Amino acid sequence: MRKIFSDKFCPFCELINKNIITLGPYPSSPTIKIQKPKIVFQTPNLIVTPDIAPIVPFHLLAITRMHEVSFLSYFNTPEFNLLKNWVIDYIYKKTTLHPLIFEHGGCSSIDYSSACIQHAHIHFVPMNHETKIEILKKIAHELNVSVGKENVKNSNYLMINAIEDNYLFWPDQKNLHQFFRFIISEHFHEVQRHSWQKCLTNEQIEKSMYWYSLVTVDQ
Ligand SMILES: [Zn+2]
Ligand SMILES: [Zn+2]
Repeated sequence: MRKIFSDKFCPFCELINKNIITLGPYPSSPTIKIQKPKIVFQTPNLIVTPDIAPIVPFHLLAITRMHEVSFLSYFNTPEFNLLKNWVIDYIYKKTTLHPLIFEHGGCSSIDYSSACIQHAHIHFVPMNHETKIEILKKIAHELNVSVGKENVKNSNYLMINAIEDNYLFWPDQKNLHQFFRFIISEHFHEVQRHSWQKCLTNEQIEKSMYWYSLVTVDQ
């Protein structure tokens, strides 16, 4: 069981309710304080914001407005599809790349399994087509056969949206902490960025803040 934050403190709830991000200090990292964090897109229940610990530039997150533990009920809804298409277009406009879309979702407020933060969020990580295929191959090699959405309703899970409306799910296993982040960051030779906490250390914070600054809120 990895419990990173107490139930009383959730950085995403703070972002949404107080319009501020505070994290740390962690060993060898300063306290991070971002006033007025960027919200690049929003729908009634969801928002899009840059990851403060990006693996690559324009790594974005979709977050639920309410403190929910997973996105399971949102997949294939008009609201989620609208957001997803907006993010895909935005990333393409900025980078000419397409995102790999993944979630490490939960079902419980005590056990996060591989999730890096309990509050429901989806990662959008820009990459070219060949890289995406390579990473999907690595993931398929590490995980067993994917299961249906119904099979992960009551468990922590890993999700990849490989193409269009095709969502692949796996029950989460305890030894896969930040698994997708690890596979992706290893591929980009940025393995220290697999852990978002490590992206905020004194050695990495400058790069993290620079990449965060590249994401603009377009009118
Ligand atoms: Zn929260
Ligand atoms: Zn995450």
